[in-house]
Amino acid sequence: MSELGAGRRGAPRIVVRTRAVTLHLSGSAAWGTAGCADEAAEVARALIGDQVSEVMVVLHMDARQGVVGFTEVARGGINRSSVTARDVFLPALAANACSIALAHNHPSGSVQPGEADRRCTASLWWAGYYLGVPLLDHVIVCRDSHYSFRAAGFFKQLEADGGRCLSCGEALHPVG
Ligand SMILES: [Zn+2]
Repeated sequence: MSELGAGRRGAPRIVVRTRAVTLHLSGSAAWGTAGCADEAAEVARALIGDQVSEVMVVLHMDARQGVVGFTEVARGGINRSSVTARDVFLPALAANACSIALAHNHPSGSVQPGEADRRCTASLWWAGYYLGVPLLDHVIVCRDSHYSFRAAGFFKQLEADGGRCLSCGEALHPVG
């Protein structure tokens, strides 16, 4: 379920509610940009780096890749298969985001992605590709380090692979 509400007339404020969690706002100046992995990670660490449980957020970017808001799509023992493209992209489209970045924290302190992280990233990357709201990065953050799927070359591999999930080999879109 999502709910959109405008702030004061003319104010660029968007409140998005998904599931039970109230999300957020806007005002790009305060949020810096997330056009590269370091910046996305910096924003993500500020948002969720200290969380003691796992939290997944979607950063919404404007045309200049400035972060203009975010939505929280999952919290707690996150089952990746329950994070759907609908959860991720519906609020992003409603917020008129030009692109998005995904971020979640690993309270364990190790930022290495798991199998489910890769699978989820591949699906959402293709979803963004077809929706025209590209997934620019997926960063995993801890308090003092991060992992970037983009920097690791994961998206390039996806493109080169012609639409098959790197993890399971399942076709994610019609090839050709
Ligand atoms: Zn993870």
